[in-house]
This record gives sequence, C-alpha cells and structure tokens, in this order.
Amino acid sequence: MRAIQISQTGGAEVLTLRELSTPKPGPGEALIQIEACGVNFIDVYFREGRYAAALPFIPGQEAAGVVAALGPEGYGLKVGDRVAWCGVAGTYAEYAVAPVNRLVAIPDGVSSQQAAAAMLQGMTAHYLAYSTCAIQAGDAVLIHAGAGGVGLLLIQMAKRLGARVITTVSTEEKAALACAAGADEVILYTREDFAARVRELTGGAGVRVVYDSVGKTTFEGSLASLQPRGLLALFGGSSGAVPPFDLIQLSTRGSLYVTRPTLKDYVATHEELLRRSGDVLGWVAEGNLKLRIEHRYPLAEAAQAHRDLEGRKTTGKVLLIP
Ligand code: NDP
Repeated sequence: MRAIQISQTGGAEVLTLRELSTPKPGPGEALIQIEACGVNFIDVYFREGRYAAALPFIPGQEAAGVVAALGPEGYGLKVGDRVAWCGVAGTYAEYAVAPVNRLVAIPDGVSSQQAAAAMLQGMTAHYLAYSTCAIQAGDAVLIHAGAGGVGLLLIQMAKRLGARVITTVSTEEKAALACAAGADEVILYTREDFAARVRELTGGAGVRVVYDSVGKTTFEGSLASLQPRGLLALFGGSSGAVPPFDLIQLSTRGSLYVTRPTLKDYVATHEELLRRSGDVLGWVAEGNLKLRIEHRYPLAEAAQAHRDLEGRKTTGKVLLIP
C-alpha cells in the first residue's frame, strides 16, 4: 500500500510517500480501506517531535473508509461496513488497522469525507462545549481561531446552547466564515488587543470561558478576558507551547480556573465515544452541523497540507484523499 512515513522528525519535508506492506488485523482489530483521512494539528506536533512516537511511523489519527478484513474476535462488524475513527495512529495511508471498539458506524447520508472531517474536531468541540465547561444559555464565551477546524464547529455548538459567542481570527475572510457559522462578534486579533475588546464588548465583565487552542501568543490575553471564577480551557498550542506560569495569577485575576483538556480523556469509554460521535455524526446527517471541507489533498501531497495548516492558510477541515 502507499503510505506517508516519517523516518526522522522535523519540518513538513519529512513526510515521505512510501510503498509499505499492508498491515494485518490482529485479535479484535479490523483492516480498513481508507477513503479520506483527516489532517489535524496534532499530526504537526508528532511530525516535529513535540509529541514522541517511535520511528519510523505513519502519521495521522483520523480516517473513514470501508472494512476490508477482520482479525480474530473482530466482533460486531463485517467486511464492507462503513466506519470512521480517530485517536489511533497510522491513517496517512491507503489502509490502516484499528481496534474494532474504536470504530463507529457512519450513518446513512454522511459521506466518508464528512465523517473523516467530523470525528476528531467535532468530538473535541463537543466535549469542550458540553463537558469541560458545560455552556449555559446566556454565557459569554470566547473562542480563538474561529475559522479553524475546531473553531467553526465549536461556534455552532456554543450557539446551539444559547451562548453569546465572541471569536478571534486573523483575516477578514476568516471573519466572514466565523460570522456565517454563527459568531456574534469577531475580533481580528492580529490587529487589535483582543482582551481589551472583549472587556469592551462585555461591558467590563469578561467572559465565562475562553476556549484557547492558540496557546503561546494568546494565553495572557485569554486570562485577561475572563470574568471572576471564569475558566480558561487551553486545548492546543498552534502558535507554540505556553511557558511555565505562576499560579498566583489565577488568584490575583479573580479566582480563575485553567484546564488543559485532551480528547482521549473525554472518549475514555466506549459508551462516551458512541455518545459523542453519535451526536456529531447525527447532527451532520440532519444538516444541523455544517462542515467546511475546502482543503482536499492527494495523499502524496501531505507535506503541502501541513505547510498550509501551519501557515494559517486553511479554514475548516483539511483532508488527505488516498
Ligand atoms: P485549525 O484549523 O484551528 O488551525 C490552527 C489555527 O490556529 C490557524 O488557522 C490560525 O487561525 C490559528 N493560529 C494562531 N496563531 C497561529 C500560529 N502562530 N501558527 C499557526 N496557526 C495559528 O487547527 P485544528 O482545528 O486542527 O486544531 C486547532 C487547535 O486545537 C490545535 O492547537 C490543536 O492542537 C488543538 N486540538 C486539541 C484537541 C484536544 O483535545 N486538546 C483536539 C483537537 C485539536 P487564524 O489565522 O485565524 O489565527
């Protein structure tokens, strides 16, 4: 099979197209022929070596496709079933093996590309909006990178829950997309001090929660945007890692909370995985969650996909098509 392999960590150029042997499913596993795989920022962290993986490895951890073979005890599925998954490494390829209990059925009316676009970022938006800080109607919330993959989905979910959504983006084009997704106010954080603007927009009060995936360049401003006892959900570091910081700031800024959540802990059980993916894929099927899939690349162009994602050139979902 054709696959992208990383033999040494580094820049986008380390993503190399190779001919590798197709993996075989072991006990409780399935082999899936991949029809679309998701590109996520976490793939960049693994490629750079910010997150460790044994070399060489096939990057990627989100895909959708058709079950091609089942290993022993691969219960509950049959060859030909359409499935999607995330959080299992090795998806930048024509085939991948995954544990059967990490696969979810793709509902009728949802394409493989839509499923691959919705799983990781959709369930992330879901846990952030419903669990990390369960949004209540009337809450003011701040979502950074509102035109990004997670951003566009989180805006839609926060609006469904009745929040007033303030979001940040880098360009006018991205601002238009965030507004179309339902954002009430958009701040161009590349041009103005977003924390001061948030205070202005909220009459000095600040927001109940900041969803911050940008990290290094936004962390300070995110803390400064919160109301007393507000929560900063730092769920990524697209601009770099946040340096160590003095916890006393949480006290002096108003008894604040900070959490650093990650998806795997919010789909820790099979029941939770099915519930979150069922909601997300169900909303996609009903047309109640809009996906933006404008960036599709052939598998061989994985390096370009990474360059564009890191270069802030993408909006919504980035897919590789084997
Ligand atoms: P996005 O599509 O959101 O792309 C990242 C965006 O971040 C860019 O488009 C850009 O938007 C913004 N950004 C701001 N500063 C920079 C910078 N210096 N370099 C690059 N981008 C910058 O990506 P994803 O939706 O895939 O992921 C968003 C974030 O969420 C990532 O940090 C990712 O790690 C995290 N994540 C965390 C999960 C978790 O469970 N903890 C799960 C899924 C994702 P703009 O141009 O508008 O500033």
